[in-house]
Amino acid sequence: MNNTIETAERAEFTQPASIVDGVSLGTILDNAEPKGVPTKDMWDWQKDHMNLVSPLNRRKFEVLVVGTGLSGGAAAAALGELGYNVKVFTYHDAPRRAHSIAAQGGVNSARGKKVDNDGAYRHVKDTVKGGDYRCRESDCWRLAVESVRVIDHMNAIGAPFAREYGGTLATRSFGGVQVSRTYYTRGQTGQQLQLSTASALTRQIGLGNVEIFTHADLVDLIVTERDGQKRCEGIVTRNLITGELTPFTGHAVILATGGYGNVYHMSTLAKNSNAGALMRAYELGAYFASPAFIQFHPTGLPVNATWQSKTILMSESLRNDGRIWSPKEPKDDRDPNSIPEEERDYFLERRYPAFGNLVPRDVASRAISQQINAGLGVGPLHNSAYLDFRDAIERLGKDTIRERYSNLFKMYEEAIGEDPYTSPMRIAPTCHFTMGGLWTDFNEMTSIPGLFCAGEASWTYHGANRLGANSLLSASVDGWFTLPFTVPNYLANHLGEAVLPADSPEAAEAVERAQARIDRLLNIKGPNPHGADYYHRQLGEILYFACGVSRNVKNLQEAIVKIREIRADFWANVVVPGEQNYMNQALEYAARVADYIDLGELMCVDALDRDESCGAHFRDDHLSEDGEAERDDENWCFVSAWEPAGEGKFIRHADPLYFESIPLQTRNYK
Ligand SMILES: Cc1cc2nc3c(=O)[nH]c(=O)nc-3n(C[C@H](O)[C@H](O)[C@H](O)COP(=O)(O)OP(=O)(O)OC[C@H]3O[C@@H](n4cnc5c(N)ncnc54)[C@H](O)[C@@H]3O)c2cc1C
Repeated sequence: MNNTIETAERAEFTQPASIVDGVSLGTILDNAEPKGVPTKDMWDWQKDHMNLVSPLNRRKFEVLVVGTGLSGGAAAAALGELGYNVKVFTYHDAPRRAHSIAAQGGVNSARGKKVDNDGAYRHVKDTVKGGDYRCRESDCWRLAVESVRVIDHMNAIGAPFAREYGGTLATRSFGGVQVSRTYYTRGQTGQQLQLSTASALTRQIGLGNVEIFTHADLVDLIVTERDGQKRCEGIVTRNLITGELTPFTGHAVILATGGYGNVYHMSTLAKNSNAGALMRAYELGAYFASPAFIQFHPTGLPVNATWQSKTILMSESLRNDGRIWSPKEPKDDRDPNSIPEEERDYFLERRYPAFGNLVPRDVASRAISQQINAGLGVGPLHNSAYLDFRDAIERLGKDTIRERYSNLFKMYEEAIGEDPYTSPMRIAPTCHFTMGGLWTDFNEMTSIPGLFCAGEASWTYHGANRLGANSLLSASVDGWFTLPFTVPNYLANHLGEAVLPADSPEAAEAVERAQARIDRLLNIKGPNPHGADYYHRQLGEILYFACGVSRNVKNLQEAIVKIREIRADFWANVVVPGEQNYMNQALEYAARVADYIDLGELMCVDALDRDESCGAHFRDDHLSEDGEAERDDENWCFVSAWEPAGEGKFIRHADPLYFESIPLQTRNYK
């Protein structure tokens, strides 16, 4: 692709030094944006100028897609339909089981259906501002522009979106916006989008265009070097039933393996979501962008006991009608319904009158945490705030509320044993989404040529804070409307090249590496044995405390030391019962925890290194006068993309960020 129109002037960029021991500065990254094109037109320009592969040549290419969630399932189905030979991998027993099935509230699209003056520009503005200017503006334009196609496409392949009485598609509002652009299927939007995508994928499998490998866990990547340049040409999987390691080779590999929030031990993610594929790629040279940008969802259910294994999400859509409050007096254990109006603090409405309960998630989570830390938490452990539907029920009636949220209310009642129609829900911030992920350029290719990354596994679009309902969208845009163009753009330059033989030395080396890791885990016979969960819980507690809703230098420095101690203990003492060659979930889990420990360290390094507050990365040494996050655009207006450089050493590469359509300004939701 010719990428060389005359460049518009962009200010010279210099990386700031790091205060973190072991961090050195790397390169300024080329993000493959077309030069000299306004950010708002870049995606159209790129699509017009990308290399094409003719229909007859497509079957000569093998593409490997890891993950069958919304992003991976869509990419595999679309590339299969276009005529490429696709192999798709998941550790689940069926594509539909991917974590995307859990998403509740909705998917954004700036189709401007409602008469509220919405459009692509407003969507970009909300996304960039919501992400606190730490995302790439050109990516956000792609997200907004393609969002218009997503709804029609998903509708066409079977997603039964909610409709108004007159038949038009219904919408609702999510946090951080003042329009109504979220399309939904009651509280089961992810389920319906995932089922539609899985059906489209299954069709391609039936047609023979896509071959699926279930129970296939990616345990390594095959990275070759040709003419001095790295290239990703395959993966190694472990069959979770037989334990067999198998190399698969292809011309390109897409990682769509989802988010890494389970690093915190307790999160709203599916228990099996993990960081394995990302960490293998990172170790082999795919840079990890913004690992410390983590979203804490304000409406999680509070932790009730230390033995709990995960947290549960109450959808953000509930903030359309629910009002968040805490009592004005600390430790007020009265029945909430008996607390009079004047003794309640509707703190979001008080502090942010313009957006009220619909401020973005980072702002809401921070405010709730501040109330809890000030002793104003409610519930048996005083670790939550109320989300109250009393006024909405009075205004709209119980039937309307039931129609909108019945499955969520039922879920709450089943989990907590209280009826939210008569008593307010109790909610607390919980780890929910990872804005960080593998660094990708504008074509969604990582720093290893031939390796692409999509969906929550990648870093794109969301900056330092994701807006609600933008993730089902980003996974769909990546899978259906980005990779089907950008992967062929890469492949076109490799026409005529045979696929790497599965018995090549590079493939054998990757299999050996995977085997050595398994052997190491199975053969630890330390004096102080513990299961992997013992280490995972400790790690989670450290991360919630030091790299959670708020962060500071001292806690992060101590966390890095503690995580290194946990790693030493883990590799000396972890017990992994059983063997490799049959289903061994203890082995799978121990491998995941080993990755979480390394990732946790990287997250703390990133959080300590980024000497500013932005979005969900709230450093309490960088506050504005009124206590809000204070960015440092002069020094930190770039994406940190990390490369490992040996034990305790890291290289920080930088992708500078420029804002043309949405000029840099301080976020204000007041
Ligand atoms: C409870 C909850 C509710 C949410 N609600 C919303 C919402 O209303 N709106 C919204 O926009 N977003 C929502 N989100 C976020 C959104 O659901 C996710 O970000 C999105 O679905 C991620 O899709 P994905 O394709 O990237 O990954 P996933 O759906 O997580 O799929 C990952 C795939 O990768 C496979 N995989 C992973 N690792 C490996 C490996 N090592 N080997 C082989 N296969 C592997 C898995 O088997 C799976 O198929 C919600 C998230 C949660 C937790």
